Amino acid sequence: MNNKAHKQAFIRAEQAEKSLANCKLCPRQCGVDRTAGQKGYCGLDDTVRCFREVMHYGEESELVPSHQVYFTGCNLRCEYCAVAEWNQQPLAAKEMDFDEMVKTIALRQRQGAKTLNLLGGEPAVNLAGILELLGRLKPEIKVVWNSNMFYNDIVDELITGLIDVYLADIKCGNNSCAEKLLGVSGYLEVVRKNILKATGKADIIVRYLILPGHTQCCLKPVLEWLAAEIPDVKLSLRGNYVPPIPAGSAPAEYLKQEDMQAAVNLAERMGLKLIK
Ligand code: SF4
Repeated sequence: MNNKAHKQAFIRAEQAEKSLANCKLCPRQCGVDRTAGQKGYCGLDDTVRCFREVMHYGEESELVPSHQVYFTGCNLRCEYCAVAEWNQQPLAAKEMDFDEMVKTIALRQRQGAKTLNLLGGEPAVNLAGILELLGRLKPEIKVVWNSNMFYNDIVDELITGLIDVYLADIKCGNNSCAEKLLGVSGYLEVVRKNILKATGKADIIVRYLILPGHTQCCLKPVLEWLAAEIPDVKLSLRGNYVPPIPAGSAPAEYLKQEDMQAAVNLAERMGLKLIK
């Protein structure tokens, strides 16, 4: 976190809290009054809830050990979501105790956490609570914004300077697959815009989970867009897709080793910078 932004974190948290009275944090544009308990697509009111915190070693090597803090609620409905229950019932988790969470984060830092990894769900829909939390932390903590990048400009503005690493998902390479797999329209333009905005503000890693059977429609256009727009970006290709049961419109198979290798070869041929 930069010091100037850190000093503004509580003011920014207030701004974010006020915006919840007519919530348009993300392109769902629900316009509900979350401060009055109304809920929009993400199902959240103005409380913030964490359903898991854990030291994790499976993230990109430059981030680990990473202290993951999972917030409930999301503005996408990915068919293959690993934590769908917390997105469908985001208020089922206990409300976060800020003092306790600050102590837990300090403990994890003492235990060797290199980064604090904010994820969910989706951190953007929990903006007000996250800003308040960041304001209570030491500014030297390295903060990772582990996000689907589907949010409006207000989120981008209020997190600027508080984030050290954008761990930015790009999930589909076209809007038709996004509608089918993520339950959202107008996905690609928003996510691309936010990735470009994040570039240069802080470190950024673009992460793409390789979806079996989506080479031509998703993998290829994602790589082509990165190669054309931000060829120097760090790219993390993930091969750990887990098919849901029932699969629905999501791929029903695990990724084959040869398809993983083919994706890596394609990215390398395009000159992209792969990280692990
Ligand atoms: S953050 Fe939630 S309530 Fe606000 S616009 Fe997005 S989905 Fe709707």
